[in-house]
Amino acid sequence: MLLKPDCLRLGLTGPVESAVAAAGLRIDCRHAVELFPADVRHLWSEYDDRGHPLATSFLDRYLTGGPSEVLLVSGPDAFEAARRVKRQIRSEHAAGPFANVVHGAERRGELARQANHLLGRCDHCAEPFVSDEPALNPARPPGIDFREHFDVAALVDEVWPLTQGVPADPGPVRLDDDATDTAVYLGPDRAHTLDSTVTALWFALPGVTPRQAVLLAMHAGFSGGTPIAVGGRRALRRCLRTLHEHGIRNCGKGPCPPVRPG
Ligand SMILES: [Zn+2]
Repeated sequence: MLLKPDCLRLGLTGPVESAVAAAGLRIDCRHAVELFPADVRHLWSEYDDRGHPLATSFLDRYLTGGPSEVLLVSGPDAFEAARRVKRQIRSEHAAGPFANVVHGAERRGELARQANHLLGRCDHCAEPFVSDEPALNPARPPGIDFREHFDVAALVDEVWPLTQGVPADPGPVRLDDDATDTAVYLGPDRAHTLDSTVTALWFALPGVTPRQAVLLAMHAGFSGGTPIAVGGRRALRRCLRTLHEHGIRNCGKGPCPPVRPG
């Protein structure tokens, strides 16, 4: 299990140890580690800089620049038990889409790759992990390379505080001056990534700012349905068609949200 920098900073090591013990697991050894961007790309092989510049930048922002700790745990059914510990800690302490405090592998092949990268630091964790599953996680849906369009790391720094807890809702984009009582809504979609969703919004919402597109994508993941566009019927129809062309399925029309003061 990987205790991410926030886990240490927020003093959550004790709750993790309690959850590990309650799951019938034993801590065989533990090591302080500091993650760098190259580690992030090795550990989360489903993302790469070119297709997922947003996801990798958010992971860099969250995981690098502070100490983490890796725990080797063992016990009955340790793989499944460690996943339950992860889910429990996240449900109690996670603070946002990327700020999820602890990591544990979801697949045994992933565990082998990550453990062999992070462990092997003492006699207790010297033995290599082996798995007959593929070591690499399958690539997740990519988006366009936003590094060609704006300073991705600077944007992530700017929006990071707004993505903690429930991500801030920046409000819908006004596509034109035609007033209707209808808005286009975007809902959560686990088949997509932040990068593939923001890419769809980038093309479906002409004039959207990077900040607004990222916040709309993240808020939609939490809200169940976020109004992303208002305007005339033709513009809204074009918006929905573009979303569909980018494989976005969980979207549709709904009542226009009340205009917010300011
Ligand atoms: Zn060790």
